[in-house]
Amino acid sequence: MTNAPDDADERRAVVPVICYPNDTLPVPDLSLYAQALAGADVVDVSVAAPRDACTFRVPAGSFFRILSVDGPQVGDLNLWNAHDLSERFYSGKTRALHGTHVTTGERLWSSFPTLRPMATIVEDSLGWYGIDSYGGSVHDVIGTRCDPYTGNLLSGVQYHHCCHSNLTRALADATGMTLAEAEPHVHDVLNVFMCTGFTRDTGQYFMKASPVRPGDHLTFFAEIDLLGALSACPGGDCSAEHTSDAAACYPLRVEVLQPAQGALDGWSPPPVNGYDRSHGRG
Ligand SMILES: [Zn+2]
Repeated sequence: MTNAPDDADERRAVVPVICYPNDTLPVPDLSLYAQALAGADVVDVSVAAPRDACTFRVPAGSFFRILSVDGPQVGDLNLWNAHDLSERFYSGKTRALHGTHVTTGERLWSSFPTLRPMATIVEDSLGWYGIDSYGGSVHDVIGTRCDPYTGNLLSGVQYHHCCHSNLTRALADATGMTLAEAEPHVHDVLNVFMCTGFTRDTGQYFMKASPVRPGDHLTFFAEIDLLGALSACPGGDCSAEHTSDAAACYPLRVEVLQPAQGALDGWSPPPVNGYDRSHGRG
């Protein structure tokens, strides 16, 4: 423990400022998206079986909806540019821009150098949850994904149905890559339906039983052509543990919805980021 200076209380009392004020971000036309969604039809359905993952493809200008079915279940979502897997969801920057949890109107941003919205959340049936008295909320971009390496580090186990492995197998199956080729493309996730936060006293990552019930859903507009992968986490509703077969697990359903012809007139996919990439060298 270090000695506190005389002005410690004063220093702690400094008022925080938001790192990235987001009022200059490009604003999605949510009413256009809502209209297009109202007339959209389901054209494809995938199901992530319990403790396993599925993949799905969503053309730019279509929607995808993740649905709770059968029982409370958390999902781990990865997104890639369907034509270039090096452009992928950037959970850390999404967190810096929007906060620890995301909901309607917020966007999932891609990695450098493109840094553009990949998907925009257009419906969140758990939007009512807000932030609870523990500081918990739903759909986080603070966790990474459950994985067998951390499980081995902490418990010495060989467990093969963590979200990391589920996503790796699903991506390999979708692309024809080997597991070794697919694994480096798996990245930090959006924890769909998961209820998480940081403890106020120790700052530790916590989870608690998800408030999700069958019928709850989270719906996204695809801003670019997407390849997605969704794992039905072995933690189930994440009320107790993950990285084991102990929790009750349920499937998650993914629907792809195509809007009617002309429903998105005036919309165009977002351009890649405008930084010139010279990094200070002429
Ligand atoms: Zn998981």
